[in-house]
Amino acid sequence: MTTPSDSRIPVQLLGNTPAPPRGLGKIQPRTAPGRFRRLRVGLGAVLLGLFFGLPWLQINGRPAVWFDLPQRQFHLFGATFWPQEFTLLAGVLIVAAFALFFTTVYAGRLWCGYACPQSVWTWLFLWCEKITEGERRQRLRLDAAPGSLTKALRRAAKHGLWLVLALATGLAFVSYFSPARALVIDGFTGQASAWAYFWVGFVTLATYLNAGWLREQVCVHMCPYARFQSVMLDRDSLIVAYDSGRGEARGPRRPGSDPRAQGLGDCIDCTLCVQVCPTGIDIRDGLQIACIGCAACVDACDEVMSRMNYPKGLISYTSERALAGEPPTRLRPRLLGYGAVLGLMLLALGASLATRAPATLDISKDRLLYRESADGRLENVYRLSVTNKTAIDQTYHLSASGWPGLRLQGNAQLNVPAFAEASAVVTLSLAPEQWPGRTVAISFHLAAGDAQLSADSRFTGPDP
Ligand code: SF4
Ligand code: SF4
Repeated sequence: MTTPSDSRIPVQLLGNTPAPPRGLGKIQPRTAPGRFRRLRVGLGAVLLGLFFGLPWLQINGRPAVWFDLPQRQFHLFGATFWPQEFTLLAGVLIVAAFALFFTTVYAGRLWCGYACPQSVWTWLFLWCEKITEGERRQRLRLDAAPGSLTKALRRAAKHGLWLVLALATGLAFVSYFSPARALVIDGFTGQASAWAYFWVGFVTLATYLNAGWLREQVCVHMCPYARFQSVMLDRDSLIVAYDSGRGEARGPRRPGSDPRAQGLGDCIDCTLCVQVCPTGIDIRDGLQIACIGCAACVDACDEVMSRMNYPKGLISYTSERALAGEPPTRLRPRLLGYGAVLGLMLLALGASLATRAPATLDISKDRLLYRESADGRLENVYRLSVTNKTAIDQTYHLSASGWPGLRLQGNAQLNVPAFAEASAVVTLSLAPEQWPGRTVAISFHLAAGDAQLSADSRFTGPDP
């Protein structure tokens, strides 16, 4: 028997490997119990729980996560963001992207195998298939069987379950844009908007087709991320690989016999690793673009190795460098680069959130340059828009500065409800004898308690 230390696994990047031969819905993966399956199921349950549960969670009487497109507001765990704060959203997306790059360089296709919605929903739909049509062997038998009432009933149960889950997914997705309770009630009583029906229907259909029918075809042919991951990995990134040095020559053997005496390696050629693969590939052919790194083959092969009394790990998470028998690299430029950018972006995003103003003030000056009042004063008119980003109603006190003698006409207070915008038209005036004969830079100030904010504009008058 060989030991892992004397083995070499030739990693062969089969980037242009054709998709596994199959028709739509024809790969019937077998369930492989094991530690990685437990990890996938646990993580999938958490992610599905968050996806379906978050729209029902309320904070301050509003959904915890709510993209309120008509009001142009985004509510996130008690905070509200406006379109002017698009840079924050861009920052969140950049942080998410670099977190994904960092994870990929470190641990390969962890995202694809464990957290990508396409994978999580496919595992869920596979579970529906298992409870309605049975395990792989029964499903293959059912596929080959002629039409019968039992076959029709099993098929109907599977598609019914798929459709229920797809509809729940559609409702949950649209609930991030329209409060869940009202959407569900209005949706089932025919009172929801046409757009709501359209999007629920669209996401339902997309989920049913992607997770029920297309499955690994999405990963192999449609996902752009799968394509450029290969350029992100380095020789220390984790990959799922078969130890051909230890496994070959593969072949069946009698229990208890010495494989070396028969010229055999540790692979008994049971094909279980192929049967459990959701993309239908044989990892013994080398690393392939169709491999999503789910480790189902690792669980299956470990189980076989245990039964044969061989060491586990004939198929395992490893790296190209480990396979070549080299020590792991400590300083990995790509990993350090992504990590540094991720850390900096997190710091910048944290600082932006910590210093986020509790209100915003926008000013637009009236197109009319100036006018004269009945008592001869010079007047400029402005439109002020105030956004109250706090959870409480605010009364803002308004003032102006920039030139001696400037006077604010009318009401110097502005009431703005919580998480709302309000606007007001205000007039600034100046006595003619105080006019300097040139445009003056001025500022408006808003104060509510300790919070203060200012915005600049200008005051114009007649030429000298
Ligand atoms: S599961 Fe392991 S022993 Fe069975 S064929 Fe695959 S690599 Fe060989
Ligand atoms: S080869 Fe293994 S890790 Fe890759 S997709 Fe198939 S079962 Fe998952």
